[in-house]
Amino acid sequence: MSINEIRSQFPILDRSVNGRPLVYLDNTATSQTPRRVVEAIDDMYFAHKANVHRGVFALSQEATDLQEASREHVRKFLNARSTAEIIFTRGTTEALNLVASSFGGSTLRDGDEIILTVMEHHANIVPWQLLQSRINFKIKVVTINERGELDLDQYRSLFTDRTRLVSVTHVSNVLGTVNPIREIVDIAHSRGVRVVVDGAQAVPHLAVDVQALDADFYAFSSHKMYGPTGIGVLYGKEQLLENMPPYQGGGEMIGKVTFEKTTFAELPFKFEAGTPDFVGIAALAQALDFIADTSYELIASHEHELLQYTTARMLEIPGMRIYGTAPDKAAVISFLVDGCHHYDVGMLLDQLGVAVRTGHHCAEPLMNYLGIEGTVRASFAVYNTLAEADAFIAALNRVVAMLR
Ligand code: PLP
Repeated sequence: MSINEIRSQFPILDRSVNGRPLVYLDNTATSQTPRRVVEAIDDMYFAHKANVHRGVFALSQEATDLQEASREHVRKFLNARSTAEIIFTRGTTEALNLVASSFGGSTLRDGDEIILTVMEHHANIVPWQLLQSRINFKIKVVTINERGELDLDQYRSLFTDRTRLVSVTHVSNVLGTVNPIREIVDIAHSRGVRVVVDGAQAVPHLAVDVQALDADFYAFSSHKMYGPTGIGVLYGKEQLLENMPPYQGGGEMIGKVTFEKTTFAELPFKFEAGTPDFVGIAALAQALDFIADTSYELIASHEHELLQYTTARMLEIPGMRIYGTAPDKAAVISFLVDGCHHYDVGMLLDQLGVAVRTGHHCAEPLMNYLGIEGTVRASFAVYNTLAEADAFIAALNRVVAMLR
């Protein structure tokens, strides 16, 4: 499939902003959505809408079948063993809050320790801090080298006999670094420690096999990988999920309710209280099909070309500093240009039609570690072109000339 054929599936890419053709380079925050996903949403509303798992009537059965077919799609996508291991959430954030509250809350004890990394998104920091108000455990932090790669020797040295859990991002949303998850998991498992993986920035770019990674939990958001907003996935090993208490209470997640005692539903429904976003869940299947039809091979090779080309062109600009230079890196480029404030760069690029993100990217501890307030971040998806990379570089040169 050509990149133009891929682009033609995304109507928004044809629009202009501030009188210029849109160059959308904020894919790390959210990707754009192909027509087939939006059509699937329409189809759910126009033809199949009824509450799931409740009705004895045909329409409700159709909606339920579409939701559950999507769960099976996600199971295959992640190579999970069973659909019991696939829980639908509102996104990565809710998935990580679920793990912290339910798994962390039921297994951690006062005096225990968990390990995070300095490159975590706030979504993989704050839920653990919230849990610290209930349990007095310690958070230890893995640092990075000058390329933005995790220091695995330091990681190994953080383990003690009180270490109970590691929670780590697969791909950094700032540095682009692809972390060696299997190695991180093996090191933890050899000490009997469980591993949670934040996959929000991985699934848009690379194939994930949860059995090959041997991750105990794996979380991601649909809206960052061409799917609808408002839904995400938590994968968890069945035996762990089985032993965890429910995260929220309500309809759908119960077996039998009396005022004296309530029993809970089987997996995965035990963790899906209330009416789920069954419309978005059904449409997520189309995003997975879009990725399958496009292929991760093409996504990875095209994004790699965009990354290499754009990085080389950016480094021609005097005073350019790029944060994150690991050889194994997703197409995310965080940068600063000497003498230019990141907000000014972002705002002026927008005037020229280029959408990039500025600020701390929900990774304030990483910014503190790097000794900076924020960066400008350009991030690519499979529908971006080399011509757009050129337009971005031309706009950036103009902006830098204006600001200096
Ligand atoms: N983790 C990482 C690495 C992210 O980049 C993000 C979003 O930018 C999140 C978690 C949170 O995702 P969401 O806001 O979709 O829950």
